[in-house]
Amino acid sequence: MSLATRPQAAKAADLLVWYDRHRRVLPWRALPGERPDPYRVWVSEIMLQQTTIAAVKPYFERFMARFPTVEALAAAPSEDVMQAWAGLGYYSRARNLHACAKAVAERHGGVFPDSEDGLRELPGIGAYTAGAVAAIAFDRPAAAVDGNVERVMTRLFAIDEPLPGSKPLIREQVLALLPHQRPGDFAQALMDLGATICTPRSPACGLCPWREPCEARQAGTQETYPRKQPKKTGKTRFGAAFVAMREDGAVLVRTRPAKGLLGGMVEVPTSEWSADYVLDNAQADAPLKAAWRRTLVPVRHVFTHFPLELAVYVAKVPMATLVPEGMRFTPFARLREEAFPNVFLKALEAGLEALRPPPSAP
Ligand code: SF4
Repeated sequence: MSLATRPQAAKAADLLVWYDRHRRVLPWRALPGERPDPYRVWVSEIMLQQTTIAAVKPYFERFMARFPTVEALAAAPSEDVMQAWAGLGYYSRARNLHACAKAVAERHGGVFPDSEDGLRELPGIGAYTAGAVAAIAFDRPAAAVDGNVERVMTRLFAIDEPLPGSKPLIREQVLALLPHQRPGDFAQALMDLGATICTPRSPACGLCPWREPCEARQAGTQETYPRKQPKKTGKTRFGAAFVAMREDGAVLVRTRPAKGLLGGMVEVPTSEWSADYVLDNAQADAPLKAAWRRTLVPVRHVFTHFPLELAVYVAKVPMATLVPEGMRFTPFARLREEAFPNVFLKALEAGLEALRPPPSAP
């Protein structure tokens, strides 16, 4: 038998031996012999979608300190949840997270369903999260296929079909590899292997428990996997952001509508965003009349489906300024408590920098 056709059970066993020696210690992960907490596993999986572990760790710790149980999260006002999430991006997830906590608290007495099917019925839990939580929290034989796992599997089996078309085949391969014993550890081992050894560039094949059966490594083509369809990126959109500071330092903000992009998050007022936005007319979109001044450098942000460039306008306004409908002045000291997503934090910071008085001459 060639090494490439080594039985699947042996591959799983090799991976688990590797995992027992090299598993990562993560704040949401149970230590060997401990029972995982489904609530922590679920929150971490939602936070980790398209975000790195390093970025998630501090958010996770703060989130757990603030909402230590699913009941506490369910009972929290939505502004508190959005505020604790601000900066992580993909805000519909925070809304779904909150809705899911309420569903678990109200429909399941605060206990997460322990099967993939049961989990999938909850808001915001798709195939990946259901598989990951079922496997990690309940040791169910479920496939949890994220980007890391896709990379490892397409290399291990030299899957040439590009993503996303190859997803069903990858899932099939993961299911075929799943061991009867310790499927939860297997899922986490696969994630760890993808994150630490089988990295996108320069994978450390010499340290990999699958170096012998790996078909891509044998062919020396590992870095060409996973194969992908060329990306279509949207056109850059342009717009203007307005940072109005009152004499007492309070800044004009508003909460975005609950539905849609960055729904429920807080922003400094902006114009519409479009590919053909004409900056010359930007002042007509300002939230109030003032001596608006444009800062030198625009703020850039890349959303999943389009890049955005916002020109930032700043103005100092008097105390007696009428507050435009649907907006509010937030005191300077409380700005950090507002749920600004990154794009508006950048605009706010650029505006505050421009409004800062020049240092007085010595
Ligand atoms: S041998 Fe290399 S390419 Fe293959 S799974 Fe291991 S790290 Fe990835």
